[in-house]
Amino acid sequence: MISVEIKSVVKNFGTQRALDGISLTIEPGELFFLLGPSGCGKTTLLRSLAGFYIPDSGSISFGGEDVTRVEPHLRNTGMMFQSYALWPHLTVGENVAFGLEMRGLGRAEIADRVKAALESVKMGHLAERKPNALSGGQQQRVALARALVVRPRCLLLDEPLSNLDAKLRLEMRSEIRRVCKEFGLTTIYVTHDQKEALSVADRMAVLDGGKLLQLGSPLEVYQRPKSRFVAEFIGETNFLPGTVLRSSPGSALVKTALGELVGVVPEGESAPAGSAVTVSLRPECVHLERQPVEENGFAGTIGESVYYGESAQHTLLAGDEKAPVRLKVTEFNPRFLGGRGGSDVYAWADPDDVVVLSR
Ligand code: ATP
Repeated sequence: MISVEIKSVVKNFGTQRALDGISLTIEPGELFFLLGPSGCGKTTLLRSLAGFYIPDSGSISFGGEDVTRVEPHLRNTGMMFQSYALWPHLTVGENVAFGLEMRGLGRAEIADRVKAALESVKMGHLAERKPNALSGGQQQRVALARALVVRPRCLLLDEPLSNLDAKLRLEMRSEIRRVCKEFGLTTIYVTHDQKEALSVADRMAVLDGGKLLQLGSPLEVYQRPKSRFVAEFIGETNFLPGTVLRSSPGSALVKTALGELVGVVPEGESAPAGSAVTVSLRPECVHLERQPVEENGFAGTIGESVYYGESAQHTLLAGDEKAPVRLKVTEFNPRFLGGRGGSDVYAWADPDDVVVLSR
């Protein structure tokens, strides 16, 4: 297991700055996700780790060894990309063996390693098949075996599941996690899919415009976004402008159109009294009641509701009746479907779920 250290990496394509001083350390054995909107620099960073791009400045180390200028084939990384690119004329076993043959390993060792790699992704029984006789998920397992068989120092995955349907994606998500943990592989995984990242990552980084915006566990990034951009990019949220009335370390009382709300100030951020802030309130953090709730409570009316069985999505109109705030609210085990049981409700949010962001 090795750590991957990225120090102040800058990469330009002509006048386009794709990476703008990225620094982060990925711990040995960590399953680390890179997330961000299209064009934020995820693929450029991954390709720099693989050695396909040389940074204009900054450095990359694997386990303390500087590899910034080392050729891709000497870095010993395993790679798996969007298109699995299996050779159609070779069997599954031959596809997996290919990288080892290129390295000149002996026949017996190749056979042993191919067998073990295919078994680790539960494809041992299909070693003789050709790729076109495999399902998308099976092809992806072969691609994973091919990345693992070279015993890479780290595994680089670029949208590895984007060609699969929803059900297979779910299955392969946990499969990739299982395999990475079993092999103790330091893995860097690029995806657009936030659910994939939230459910599989040990830690994740959110990038935008070639800059690192936030780094943390899925829980930290989702529950304690440090900026409006991250709050909106990961999950859904409601934003309310407000002014800080009082503040203490880690929390603030904010005047908003819904009344006064107590919220948390993310670590390392500040919200001094008198400052203009934005409050982020996720739809599932607004709870509906028939009776008023004192702390962080407010009255509202349910506008539209969409029923999904286990949950419902409401539009809650609250605050000033003439110019109400429209809040998205997710209710689990729904009781308050528009009209049924009355549409006037009381809502509240736990102060821990009200995130105060500086503007
Ligand atoms: P996506 O999610 O769409 O794949 P990304 O976050 O992976 O996007 P990158 O592919 O890393 O983004 O691109 C970062 C920026 O660098 C973009 O503005 C892109 O247009 C630019 N870029 C990437 N590769 C090249 C290249 N080979 N030549 C010129 N510009 C490039």
